[in-house]
Amino acid sequence: MDKQKKRYTIKAGCPQCGCTQTTVMTNEELQERYGHVPNFDLECGECMAKFSTPAKDACPEWDRECRMKE
Ligand SMILES: [Zn+2]
Repeated sequence: MDKQKKRYTIKAGCPQCGCTQTTVMTNEELQERYGHVPNFDLECGECMAKFSTPAKDACPEWDRECRMKE
């Protein structure tokens, strides 16, 4: 059971151009970049718009783990 190697997919739709952003991050990367937050701050790779999206929608798996640690 190597939990650090688990990968999480963060998926969000850009509110400005409508494209779908998919980011795959490891547990460690997620922890470092966002930590246990209710919302992810993301930047669209197409139009560079910055937006935030609820973690429970973008990555339900990570959201669940966050709540388990509370
Ligand atoms: Zn966009």
